[in-house]
Amino acid sequence: MAGAEDGPGQQLELDEDEASCCRWGAQHAGARELAALYSPGKRLQEWCSVILCFSLIAHNLVHLLLLARWEHTPLVIVGVVAGALIADFLSGLVHWGADTWGSVELPIVGKAFIRPFREHHIDPTAITRHDFIETNGDNCLVTLLPLLNMAYKFRTHSPEALEQLYPWECFVFCLIIFGTLTNQIHKWSHTYFGLPRWVTLLQDWHVILPRKHHRIHHVSPHETYFCITTVLCLLEKTQSRVAE
Ligand SMILES: [Zn+2]
Ligand SMILES: [Zn+2]
Repeated sequence: MAGAEDGPGQQLELDEDEASCCRWGAQHAGARELAALYSPGKRLQEWCSVILCFSLIAHNLVHLLLLARWEHTPLVIVGVVAGALIADFLSGLVHWGADTWGSVELPIVGKAFIRPFREHHIDPTAITRHDFIETNGDNCLVTLLPLLNMAYKFRTHSPEALEQLYPWECFVFCLIIFGTLTNQIHKWSHTYFGLPRWVTLLQDWHVILPRKHHRIHHVSPHETYFCITTVLCLLEKTQSRVAE
């Protein structure tokens, strides 16, 4: 992809790029300034969010498995597909909003949530150097409330009420799982070396964001291909082919 700001050769050639003091990359002055805004307080928020989020996911998954019945299967399949589609649409909407509106100067939201999006355009490979906590902390924070709501239902509703709600809760759970993992999937789409085989297979099957697809978003001015989770990216691809 001509003009794309990362790619298979990019990670190997990073030192060369950095030495030439470029318009993007880890040594770009703007990228360094934005990376420096990552504070210990922010790190603590991410740790708390990840621990709480994955504990609640495990709790809710156990309850869903205990309530599973064969007769739910068709509705559960519909719920899981709808959950993945809506999660992808929301990832595109949030990504578009954070790329387009506001600035890092905004109180609280600017440094905490808009900064990573702006840093990502200037230094697209920074995400590959982020650990699990930094990659997933913000998404875990966003999904905490629906996870708590689901856990509350499992603790307080009668078995009959939960049976009625079961397909809906499977839909919400799938939405939450894809929402929580959006940035991890995004990180994998920037990683060209050392990915597990199962991840590259999921990318090749378009279950999660393929690497070639996401590179199109990284061509300046970053105004297309915002969906960064799963299957909706196929619709964008089809649309762009029709437009051509
Ligand atoms: Zn972007
Ligand atoms: Zn990206």
